[in-house]
Amino acid sequence: AKNLSGKVAIVTGGSSGIGRATALQLAKQGAKIALVDLKEEKAELVKKEIEELGVEALVTDTDVSDPNRMAESYDHVLEHWGRLDIVFANAGINGKVEPIEDLTAEDWDQTLGTNLRSTFLAVKLAIPHMKTNGGSIVITSSINGTRTFRSFGMSAYSTSKAGQVAFGKMAALELARYRIRVNMICPGAIKTNIGQNTFPDKEELEKIKIPIEFPEGSQPLEHKAGTPEQVADLVSFLSSDLSSHITGSVIHIDGAESLL
Ligand code: NAD
Repeated sequence: AKNLSGKVAIVTGGSSGIGRATALQLAKQGAKIALVDLKEEKAELVKKEIEELGVEALVTDTDVSDPNRMAESYDHVLEHWGRLDIVFANAGINGKVEPIEDLTAEDWDQTLGTNLRSTFLAVKLAIPHMKTNGGSIVITSSINGTRTFRSFGMSAYSTSKAGQVAFGKMAALELARYRIRVNMICPGAIKTNIGQNTFPDKEELEKIKIPIEFPEGSQPLEHKAGTPEQVADLVSFLSSDLSSHITGSVIHIDGAESLL
């Protein structure tokens, strides 16, 4: 059954990983998809995949931390389809993985800008378009947003992810009067490319005494990292009327990794 026929969704970070899988899942449910991402070429490939499902899609090449470009993206979607029902505020980076004593203010701003300022913008810009008919916003936080175990060197990332949870709860409270629901998801390790360019290699980690054990294999439920498709199923549920009484919730999707 198609739960999202006639709906329009914005997916940030839609060109890869969790964003891509979710864009495809929402499209399978019938929603038109706007992919908002820095990586335009990769986003164009996802757009093609969506169109092969017989669903309309568009791409806007945007830095999610830039208020003007984000506003232009939303305008573009509204001009194109005339409505907005779903926002998946998902784009994010690990940023520099460094102990606090080596982290610079620029590193900090880069991570907080991409992960947290972007979330504020994604929610704020949705309000005028969801005010009348309601809507659903899902924010990708992380288990790092609710606990910090095994996240040494990720102070900026964890702060941004915890900030997303706090901001999302405030947004849920403020926007309930418009029937705009806002929920946060907290994935554990999910198989995507996110860590590839940011994690120092093992030797480097030992040198700076960051005892990161890579979490793959440490999820009690399946003893392996989750998949973007498993996260997409959760976002699809939270985006649909099946979750009509859920707002301001923080849902872990981590095979019990956060309980270790
Ligand atoms: P990914 O790297 O595959 O996808 C991230 C996407 O965001 C990419 O398409 C990238 O181009 C885009 N992006 C990055 N910076 C951007 C910017 N400034 N403007 C626009 N787009 C930008 O990684 P992923 O794992 O799918 O990450 C998605 C979200 O999930 C992130 O918020 C991440 O923190 C969160 N998360 C991931 C995991 C995991 O283990 N993979 C765990 C917990 C939370």
